[in-house]
Parts: sequence; structure tokens; C-alpha cells
Amino acid sequence: MAEIKKNDEFVIEIMDLGADGEGIGKLENGYTVFVKDALIGDVAKIKIIKTKKNYGYGRLMSLVQASPFRVEAPCPVARACGGCQIMHLDYAEQLKYKENKLRNLLERVGKVKDYEMAPVIGMKEPYYYRNKAQFPVGRNKDGMIVTGFYAGRTHSIIDTTHCFIQHPLNETLVALVRNWMESNGVEPYDESTGRGLVRHILTRVGKRTGEVMVCLVVNGKDIPAREALIGALTKVEGMTSISLNVNREKTNVILGPTVKTLWGKDYITDYIGDICYQISPLSFYQVNPEQTQVLYSKALEFAGLKAGDVVWDLYCGIGTISLFLAQKAARVYGVEIVPQAIEDAKKNAELNHMDNVEFFVGKAEEVLPRKYAEDGVYADVIVVDPPRKGCDAALLECMVEMKPERIVYVSCDPATLARDVHYLEEHGYKVRRVQGVDMFPHSIHCEVICLLDHVK
Ligand code: SAH
Repeated sequence: MAEIKKNDEFVIEIMDLGADGEGIGKLENGYTVFVKDALIGDVAKIKIIKTKKNYGYGRLMSLVQASPFRVEAPCPVARACGGCQIMHLDYAEQLKYKENKLRNLLERVGKVKDYEMAPVIGMKEPYYYRNKAQFPVGRNKDGMIVTGFYAGRTHSIIDTTHCFIQHPLNETLVALVRNWMESNGVEPYDESTGRGLVRHILTRVGKRTGEVMVCLVVNGKDIPAREALIGALTKVEGMTSISLNVNREKTNVILGPTVKTLWGKDYITDYIGDICYQISPLSFYQVNPEQTQVLYSKALEFAGLKAGDVVWDLYCGIGTISLFLAQKAARVYGVEIVPQAIEDAKKNAELNHMDNVEFFVGKAEEVLPRKYAEDGVYADVIVVDPPRKGCDAALLECMVEMKPERIVYVSCDPATLARDVHYLEEHGYKVRRVQGVDMFPHSIHCEVICLLDHVK
């Protein structure tokens, strides 16, 4: 087999997309090449730019035959921006791609067989769906203040005023903050020196309530010309909460640990279905409210609750899924690591007059085993909704020891889902149903919900 070298040129067919939305194809000799901007179905002329032993990277030189699924992305910066990776792929194909990826991981990594899987549920209008934005603030080469999104895999900011997946109100909010900075000589934060004040503009808009939150992430305790900022932002209809988040660390982590309310409430409220939620700046809340309703309704359906059932909802955030389940269950216990989220969760239970829920702060992998060992707690159904890294091994162990009748696994990363269901299948559970829900159109990410039951 001839050695593949830098600058070699080939024509290849793109068969798959990688984790960052890059096209993946194989040369005739089986050598795998990753090609940025190439799509499944493209036949592309590429030039090798970097080689490793078993794979390499190629630059897309030209399309010999464009994929039949290529579309014109409405966003002019879609290619450069790191936010959307596959906006140039027809939406129906995006959904098929997500379904295939899910199926492959479950079957190859999870070794799952004989399960029911419906097509990924997409959005009718897959634009302007996000209720939360975090815009980095900086300066460009010419010294102008810029706000927008990071270019893929970098921290250089693409100055964007109009984003096709964000709530349209963001355009106004960001312009007002920028204007306040320019008029009052407020410095954006500079990542290289650690100097400057404003790092990010965090916004949230309640889909149903129209309530608006603006939280400035700052490298300092306070801001100058505070009244000017408040004066400008409070003219926006729906403005409910204006706050500062203090982050003085030299870090990539966006939010610091403390929030100070400058004006209005410490939170906004929104609804999913009939349930009302308070959301504060530090709490996790699903970013796509329309699809969240679909997801939580599936969670409720998969949980198959009967009168008298006891449920544990692990990684519960502000108690979103917990309260959804509490509509049917006798009792729901939620566990979550962020204290502010648990405060929100408790208030949310009160707000919805639900007294059959209880929340605990702590790591799920510590709280549940402790409660099980000390108090012998019990579950008919366990729901987990972990971050991308999946469930901790100690938690999975405890779950199988507790032997709930059903486990509902909500996941934002099918790879760790596959790993964890493999463990569960080796320890007495069987995957019955899998449903993808597209919470993040135009990105390569997909939310999945999976029902396992205990095999007697
Ligand atoms: N179920 C919620 C939140 C899911 S996101 C919803 O649908 O809104 C995952 C949550 O897990 C986040 O709130 C995060 O703060 C929390 N988390 C992360 N690691 C955790 C751990 N080890 N134990 C408990 N919660 C954790």
C-alpha cells in the first residue's frame, strides 16, 4: 500500500460526519480522511494536509459531485461559526443522520438488540428556537468591540448581530449592551491579558411568558454607569431580571460562582406544558422549550407511572422532569449538584403546589448510594439525565442494586448513553424503546431518551 503523504490529492466519497460535523471518507486502500465542510453524499476532490498512521485530514478543494442533500445555509457565517455545524445539510437529512448515528452507537458500543426506535422527532420550524444565548465580548484587530460566537475550535469571535437559531430579541439586547459599553468606555475582557471587564452577555427569554433576563459576566465586582445600562435595558418589553455574574478567573468556564441582581427579579419564569418554572442565571434549563415539551412528554410516557409509584430523578436541574413526573407519581425525589438549581427546584414545587416532591443537593453518585445504604430508599422508576460524560459508575452500580422496575435514561450524548446502557444490560436490564428528539437543529448534537426495564 502506497504511503499517503501531505499534498497528495484524491477524489473521495464522503460517507459520514464526525463529531464536529466534518465529512469522513475512505481512500481506496481503506485510509480514513476527515474533510472539513464536506457533507455525506459529496464526491470531493481533496488535498491531504496532515497525516497520522491510520487516518489523516484533507482540505476540500472542489466538489466533483455535490451531495443531493446540500442546501444553502440561510446564515452568512454558518461555515465559520462554531455554533451550527450542519446548517448546509437538508433538515430531513440532519434528522436521518442523527438517527443513524444513534443506532450505530447503540448497536456497536451498547451491543443493544431488539429494541423499538422511532425516527428522530424534528421541529416544524427549525430556526430561532433557543431561549438562552451566551455571547462572548471582545475586540477585533481594529480595536472595535465585537460580540458574537466563537469560530469553530477557537476563541476568535465572529461578530454576529443576527443569529438564525437564537431568539430574535437578542439582537436588541446585545446592541444595547454594546452601545452602553461604547458610550461609557467600558472595556471588554481580554483573554490573553486577563484585563478588561465584560466577558459574556448571557440572555434568556421565556418562550411563553416573554420574560427577559440579561446577565453580564464581568471580571470585577461592579460596573460603571450602572444606571445607564439599567435605563437602556428596562425599555425592552418583558425585561424582568438584570444581573451581574462575577468571574475573575483566567478560565474558559463562562460563569463564575456568584450572581448579583442589579434590577428586577433574581430569575425569570417560563412554562413547559402546564408547569411553571423559575430559572436563575446559574441553573441549567433546556435551551429549546418547544422540543423540551416533546422530550418530557416522552419521559412521562416511558416512565409508565402507576398510582403509588416512587420515582428518583437524578441530575434534576431545577426539577423540570421531576415536576412533570410528579403530576402522575406518588412521590418524586430529585438530586442535583448545583445548589442554586435546587433552590429553584424547591420554589418550583411550591409554585406549582406540588407537595409530593423532595430535592437533595449533591452528586447523584454520592447522594443515592448514601440514601440507599442509610435509609434503604426505594424506587419504582429511576430517571437519569446526566451531562455529556454520562453516569458515574458508582451511580449505575447503586441503580442496579435498587432494582427499579424501569429506568428512563435521558441523554445529550449517544456515545456515553451507549456505554451506560451496555452496563445496565449486563446487570439485569433490557433496552425497550429509544427516541431521539432534535433539540439542537443545525448542530450535530441530539437528545435521546431510552427506556429500559428490569428483566425478571
Ligand atoms: N433534568 C434537568 C437537567 C439536566 S442537565 C433538565 O432536563 O432540565 C444535567 C444536570 O446535571 C445539570 O443541572 C448539572 O448541574 C447536573 N449535574 C452534573 N453533574 C452532576 C452530578 N454528579 N450529580 C448530580 N447532578 C449533576
